[in-house]
Amino acid sequence: MKTIYVDNNATTKVAPEVVEAMLPFFNDMWGNPSSMHTFGGQVAKHVERAREQVAKIIGAQRTSEIIFTSCGTESDNAAIRAALATNPEKKHIVTTTVEHPAVLNLCQNLEKHECVEVTYLPVDAKGRLDLEKLKSSLRDDTAIVSIMWANNETGTVFPIEEIAQITHERGILFHTDAVQVVGKLPIDLKKTPIDFLSLSGHKLHASKGVGALYVQRGTKFSPYIIGGHQESGRRGGTESVPLIVGLGAACELAMNSMEVERAHLARLRDKLEAGILEKVRRVTVNGDRENRLPNTTNTSFESIEGESILLMLNEYGICASSGSACTSGSLEPSHVLLAMGILHEKAHGSIRWSLSRYSTEEEVDFILEKLPPVIEHLRKLSPVS
Ligand code: PLP
Repeated sequence: MKTIYVDNNATTKVAPEVVEAMLPFFNDMWGNPSSMHTFGGQVAKHVERAREQVAKIIGAQRTSEIIFTSCGTESDNAAIRAALATNPEKKHIVTTTVEHPAVLNLCQNLEKHECVEVTYLPVDAKGRLDLEKLKSSLRDDTAIVSIMWANNETGTVFPIEEIAQITHERGILFHTDAVQVVGKLPIDLKKTPIDFLSLSGHKLHASKGVGALYVQRGTKFSPYIIGGHQESGRRGGTESVPLIVGLGAACELAMNSMEVERAHLARLRDKLEAGILEKVRRVTVNGDRENRLPNTTNTSFESIEGESILLMLNEYGICASSGSACTSGSLEPSHVLLAMGILHEKAHGSIRWSLSRYSTEEEVDFILEKLPPVIEHLRKLSPVS
């Protein structure tokens, strides 16, 4: 059975070009980039080339502003902890109710164990922030504002340039989790006062196990992973050379094809969304349709559970996501949809569809053929339909 993969906000296929770029570093060039000898030293050059490629995709001015990490979660943790460590007198963080757990759960942990106060900014029914609320939440003891560039569940894009400006005018550090944006939308840090930006390899057709953190020159930093002198003393641990080289290659690929891909993704996403709205009754689209990632749509199907839809679609090889987390045996609806004021029942019946450069028109047609009878069938079984 063919796999129809529409869960690209969870992870993406490693691009064949990226695999190709990584292979020599598993086979022949397996040295340690920190070694004095040529065998290791030659590898370091490739790590630096990848640093240039990563810097370029986000418009960073200097390669020294890029630190390689193991994933987006590590980058988020490293940024927030660095802000707290370098400003020990400041014990307040501002973030939003719709962040990824990499930020939300860290903030909750800091509240519980490290006497940090956190303001969680609410969102409206479309998942948008009220910038007046952001302004009034800023305090003299705010160490950092951490706000995602785009939401992984609805695709809603926040006005990060404006948010960064507001934060900087108050002299407060700003971090953005751009894990879902890098490779999908253009980013130019030369134009935006951002101190920290997180990205993750496996969301842009590189491998799992590699990410990066941008730290603007002049922003004080304190390492989260303490060890050797790798990454200029800012992240201990021998660099994962093949994965880093792959991340660089993925950034270059994404940059070269971004405009074409963006149009391709938006066209297929819009076709899928319009088809669902046309063929299925009692469906709503969640999120800000005017400001969204080009590859994402999130739809709520009334009177049925997302998990049942996923299980039936899985029978046809269709891989999507419901955004729910399975906690202690009970399925909790997505915290993002609940934060948008969507009722439990409706949030439960939500499916996130996220496409990639490899998605095709035939795949969208296949989903539009299989989905309506699945929904009909489940509604017949539902006691509340
Ligand atoms: N931030 C966002 C917005 C994400 O979507 C994800 C992954 O889903 C992460 C952070 C975590 O990234 P990683 O899986 O690389 O730790």
